[in-house]
Amino acid sequence: MQYKWTYEKWRFLILKYLSYIVGIIFLLELVVLIYVKRVDLLVTNTRTYLLKYMMLPILTNSVSLFFGYYLLKKETISDRIKNYVPLACVLVFCFVISTVHNFFLITASIFVIPVMLSSFYGSKRITTATLFMSVLLLLNCTLSTGFDANDANFHMRIMNGMVAFCLLISSYLLSIMMMKYAKEKETELSESIRSAYQLEEQLKKDPLTGLYNHSNFYAYLEDGIIHAEEQRNKVCLAVLDIDFFKKVNDTYGHERGNVVLTGLSELLIKYCEEYGHACRYGGEEFSLVFKELEISEVYRRMEKLRKEIEEQTYITNVHITISIGIAEYKSGMTAQELFDNADKAMYLAKKNGRNQVVVYTD
Ligand code: GH3
Ligand code: MG
Ligand code: MG
Repeated sequence: MQYKWTYEKWRFLILKYLSYIVGIIFLLELVVLIYVKRVDLLVTNTRTYLLKYMMLPILTNSVSLFFGYYLLKKETISDRIKNYVPLACVLVFCFVISTVHNFFLITASIFVIPVMLSSFYGSKRITTATLFMSVLLLLNCTLSTGFDANDANFHMRIMNGMVAFCLLISSYLLSIMMMKYAKEKETELSESIRSAYQLEEQLKKDPLTGLYNHSNFYAYLEDGIIHAEEQRNKVCLAVLDIDFFKKVNDTYGHERGNVVLTGLSELLIKYCEEYGHACRYGGEEFSLVFKELEISEVYRRMEKLRKEIEEQTYITNVHITISIGIAEYKSGMTAQELFDNADKAMYLAKKNGRNQVVVYTD
């Protein structure tokens, strides 16, 4: 069952509303009693009326509701069984109406209520089981007055039962249709949620390298800073820039330059592991946000990365080097200040001859 929490809430709500209905019918019977007594239409005595039309129904429904609540609250009972509990209570309620109040023939049609109600679970099996129970109870209420082929009333009841049966089947078919509609709507909704999510993810990423883009970088950094303030966690930032990348483009062409960028991005993701977040900050500029790592550990990783890039030849045989600036978040800093510090360190690395890692110091 997908929406366990929803069903749990609604199972209880069905019982709650059913108890309201039982109370309303009890009061209605009282009004009817006063009315029939006034117009002198009471066919039985008051005591029998009170017992049959008021006390017996409310007692039966109360026992059924009480038992229903008990079963719903019992933790050892599975959700699958619990789904049937409110429907069973509604069936008891309908059975009481159709047998006790069968003076009015229309009451035999009341079984359309549990069948329609069962459709909210969206399970054909539950609705079919409810239909089956409803048919049995309808049969019972139609035949409960006994067989008497010479009694016109008996034939009237049989015909009435047939009409009620037709209504029951109609309500079943309508319920099945409504369930199909709800399922289709649910599928459509989850598909649109999925595509909205994919679109959102796409908007966060750079199409060439698949790394997070400039705007996501700042959002992530700001989020990291808030988290660092609350949890007293570390946040470090590394800013990377490819050395003389213009020359790479000029020598090998823009396309090969792009392959260098994607190859480097894959390497950056590898170096981030579970602590870092790699972004393509600009053209050939990247930033790595590290949470929960000491700056010495970030330096160690960046130095290893710098060396690996210096020595590699796997990125389309293009030899490149990178300059890296690292800065550590200090309480009260803004994201921009942290970035500026790392950027300053990176420019110092460039100034000092490139292909090196510099840690920002005041
Ligand atoms: P420095 O060591 O000072 O960083 O030198 P540099 O040549 O890397 O610096 P500069 O900022 O002058 O050049 C960056 C180059 O990066 C210029 C641009 O053509 C190239 N570039 C930017 N974005 C892309 C891209 O998406 N693909 C390719 N192939 N090249 C890009
Ligand atoms: Mg640059
Ligand atoms: Mg550069």
